[in-house]
Amino acid sequence: MGYRSCKLIRFLLNLSLFWKVGFVIAICVAINTLIAFYFHAQLHKLKDHLERAPIYAYKSLAQEGLYLLERLEEASAEEKERIRNAIRKLAYIGLQGGIYEKGNQKIIQIVSSVKDPYLKDVLTRLVKANSYQEMQKEFQKILDWSLKEEEKLQKELGALSENASSFYLLIFGILILCLIWGGLAFFFMVKRPLDIITKKIDNLFIEGEHYCLEDPQYCEWKHEAEDEIGKLSEAVKNLLRNYTELAIFKHTIEEDQTVKDVYERLAQVFKEKLGIEAFALYEVSNSQNTMTVVHLSPPDLEVNHEKLFNANFCRAKRTGHVINSIIQPRICSLFLWKDEAEHYCVPFMSGGQCIGVAQIILPKTPENRRSKRIKEKLRIAERYIREAVPVIEAKRYAESLKDQTLKDPLTGLYNRRFLEEAIDNLIAGILRRKTVLGVLMADLDYFKSINDRYGHDIGDKILKETAKLLKKHVRASDLVVRFGGEEFLILLVDVKEGDSLKIAEKLRSIVEAQEFETPKGVIKRTISIGVSEFPVDAKGIWEAIKYADVALYKAKEGGRNKVVRFTRDMWSSKEY
Ligand code: GH3
Ligand code: MG
Ligand code: MG
Repeated sequence: MGYRSCKLIRFLLNLSLFWKVGFVIAICVAINTLIAFYFHAQLHKLKDHLERAPIYAYKSLAQEGLYLLERLEEASAEEKERIRNAIRKLAYIGLQGGIYEKGNQKIIQIVSSVKDPYLKDVLTRLVKANSYQEMQKEFQKILDWSLKEEEKLQKELGALSENASSFYLLIFGILILCLIWGGLAFFFMVKRPLDIITKKIDNLFIEGEHYCLEDPQYCEWKHEAEDEIGKLSEAVKNLLRNYTELAIFKHTIEEDQTVKDVYERLAQVFKEKLGIEAFALYEVSNSQNTMTVVHLSPPDLEVNHEKLFNANFCRAKRTGHVINSIIQPRICSLFLWKDEAEHYCVPFMSGGQCIGVAQIILPKTPENRRSKRIKEKLRIAERYIREAVPVIEAKRYAESLKDQTLKDPLTGLYNRRFLEEAIDNLIAGILRRKTVLGVLMADLDYFKSINDRYGHDIGDKILKETAKLLKKHVRASDLVVRFGGEEFLILLVDVKEGDSLKIAEKLRSIVEAQEFETPKGVIKRTISIGVSEFPVDAKGIWEAIKYADVALYKAKEGGRNKVVRFTRDMWSSKEY
């Protein structure tokens, strides 16, 4: 159990600086008040002592009286009378108070009348004394009394000055303790936490995000108190933590392979870090002005358009502003859950263009309207989107560049280059699964005549539509490649042996039945297809492609608009 577990210390630690300083001042004031009280008491004592000052007067009075009595014996009669009067005056002064004069000097001032009962008694007897012996006796008593009192007074004054010096020592000690306490408190409660914060901030600016990536825990330090420094420490910690997480996020998405991975990671942040349960991410195709859902959370979240064919219907996309139904109810006519939920749509802005939209859906509750936490959550979501947008943009650009080199721009089909890159993986899968790959080499019949009769534009249109037809009528996992001018290679993945011929026949009849609508009227075309199967006909894929081509040649020879299955007798040469 550390000292921090003590409730009082925790309470004091957590006091705000205002109260801490106030506390110190209050203690100083209290100490000073005590000091003042003590001085006051001491002054009272001193006053008391001073009131006893007549002791000295009585001492002088007694000495003077005794001196006069001594002189009386050898005095003349005249002198005796004078001395007698002087003694009586002395006794009177002693009793009543007054000023005793010796020659021209006022030597004794007895301010007040006698209070001490013993002295009063003695003085009364002195006034009434009839003989000099009696007078002498009483004077002697006064002298003894004053000597005793003087001794007492000396002792008390000595003790008083001793007290005063230890009192000075005490004050000095308290001052030193206050200094040490203040110094330690300043060091532990102000200087050290501020030093840590400064160092962390310095490191962050010097090392940048690498610092965060190397040591993601670096924003974990402890500050016990919840005073202003504690709050500052907590705020800096949060800032650094958010900055670190953001830097790690950015670094990770930059290293992600595809733009889809980036969307998934953004979705992961929404779900796991921000606890946003329902949202949809849309991608905007600016060339086609369409919007497509790229992520739904939960996956069965109902959105009114999986694909929006006019992206400008989306208010966030069109305006480039955040659309927030919490502030402006029913702002978007397209939003599906008008009465049950709120939406907060953030456009992904890049270079003044909207390349995507995040639609965050929140329950419609009065708390959501006021909640600072929700507002913060949405602001952080926006922050992550801002970090992700340049990466999404760059990845989309890179992917479209790659598409351009691997896809045929006219038909949108993969080109031979792609085939060369992808074929090894495809074959490895076929061999691993021990299935069959159907190889179809298709070529439009008499296509040259189309160009000659109707022109290249119409030729292009027919090529495009044929490519679309072929793609549409094979499975998504199959590969349709533009192999040459009007030649298509179709690779049918995981077919049953012998099925390739049936599929080829289906494709042939679909093309034959198709009416291509052109500005120059409806045109009909036919297609010839050569078929081989890997690894049924050949050990290598390029060999199988060659055999499909050989079969295609046979189909052309046989009158076109035909499907011909490759057979061994068609190819005698050992080379292919
Ligand atoms: P067949 O295959 O039936 O023997 O006759 P064909 O006329 O189709 O044969 P050939 O291979 O001699 O001619 C192919 C023609 O396809 C030549 C070219 O005019 C046309 N062609 C190739 N690529 C394109 C293209 O991208 N656009 C257009 N419009 N025509 C193309
Ligand atoms: Mg042809
Ligand atoms: Mg040809």
